[in-house]
Amino acid sequence: MRRGLRLRALAAPAVLAALLAGSGRAEAAGPAEPAAAVAAAAAVAADAAPAAKTACDLLVVAGSVLTMDDADRALGRTGICVSGGTITAMGDPDELAGTHAVGERVDRPNAVVLPGFVNTHTHAAMSLLRGVANDQPLMEWLQKSIFPAEAKNVSPDFVRAGTRLTCLEMVEGGTTTFADMYYFESDVADVVDTAGLRGVLGETWLDFPVPDHKDLAEEKAVTEAFLLKWKGHPRITAAVAPHAPYTCSKETLQAAGALADRYGAPLLIHVSETRDEQRQIREKYGTTPTRWLDSIGFLGPRVVFAHGVWLDADDLALMARRGVALSHNPESNMMLASGVAPVVAARKAGVVVALGTDGVAGSNNDVDMIEAADIAGKLAKVSTFDPTALTARELLRMATRDGARALGLADRIGSLEVGKRADLIAVELDRPWMQPVYDLAAAVVYSADRSDVSLTVVDGKVLWDGTNARTLDRAAILAEAARWRERVRASLAPDSAGGKK
Ligand SMILES: [Zn+2]
Repeated sequence: MRRGLRLRALAAPAVLAALLAGSGRAEAAGPAEPAAAVAAAAAVAADAAPAAKTACDLLVVAGSVLTMDDADRALGRTGICVSGGTITAMGDPDELAGTHAVGERVDRPNAVVLPGFVNTHTHAAMSLLRGVANDQPLMEWLQKSIFPAEAKNVSPDFVRAGTRLTCLEMVEGGTTTFADMYYFESDVADVVDTAGLRGVLGETWLDFPVPDHKDLAEEKAVTEAFLLKWKGHPRITAAVAPHAPYTCSKETLQAAGALADRYGAPLLIHVSETRDEQRQIREKYGTTPTRWLDSIGFLGPRVVFAHGVWLDADDLALMARRGVALSHNPESNMMLASGVAPVVAARKAGVVVALGTDGVAGSNNDVDMIEAADIAGKLAKVSTFDPTALTARELLRMATRDGARALGLADRIGSLEVGKRADLIAVELDRPWMQPVYDLAAAVVYSADRSDVSLTVVDGKVLWDGTNARTLDRAAILAEAARWRERVRASLAPDSAGGKK
């Protein structure tokens, strides 16, 4: 229905152009025979229609396609036309090439094209701390390594360099949208905008001084300026990100909620990540983090919980009722030994469950979404003793469309269909570890490596063509990361004077 309407709407300008061209000739034929002239114009229009081609900025010709739309179709050789950043037609590539004036054509005959990955939880700038502290419990890792390293190093320059590095990693690995929680988030947004990626970017709030604000009043001011600056941007959604119920007071959380409400902004928060957090909240408030958040009016359809490892059945029912989405971060939960999130139960309860990588430092040292989907599947299976738990199709859906739903972007992205924004990737299949292919979703989730991603398109723009990142300077970004490693190392040395704390 929607597709048919779209195609008709698109056909109209071409016909109009042909009629206009025809009417010019009709006038030249003289005004004496208006009816004949109109008939002639119509005939000319019909003849000329193929010549007046519909614009198509980008034509992607795929060996196969996973649409991830409502019908969840797997298609054979398919062309995808993109104009003005929107998918305007899908079908036989030769027909599309014949009827469209194609700007750039990208052929991926041996690949499957699918919606780009949506990483619903990460801290992109922390890539500069990748490997600085590993193999530690969450609280120790945060308090002894990450918070001090951040206090000594995090600045707008640090955030920009780290975000650039992670954007490059995401572009090359097929992630087209990500949700971020960090500081100097407006600087993050600048980098994401330049990279051409899509982002839901949350300014982090904490009840102790952090690099870009000292207290709640500053937090509010910084975040409101950020929300105002990026309002209406086609790819950047500014968000409010109070860190967690155990690091933010009731007053802080309610202020964050009120600000997000005023701007219709998403609220990103870590919830029920560790058993220790459950204990702390129970001691302080006598209930679970989820129920406490509900009691202070925090929950609603724009809220995304990261982790949710220790959610119980009542929490899940409450989340479903309030429309709260869950970002499942299996690798982080495994690496920090936090536990196993009740993902199967959450989906059964009606919660939208998406995937995230967390990280980038210490809790998962990369932002590889294929790996996240693969591990989410295997963790769900082994923890429930049920190999049917989370199929490859379901995992791929969590990594794409359910990510878009969790972040409130499902009307724009998450599936390949006419009318949606063109956020898509190609995964090469002609690899020894992929062949033979019986099931495309299983091939992508269980066999592919992110280096098999040979095309990343966001909003109709090619960001990665399999060889070059077109919006990011790879060599400069890697050199910059190496320079930051020296600065971070020096700042963490025992005799360092670089510390502010
Ligand atoms: Zn996190």
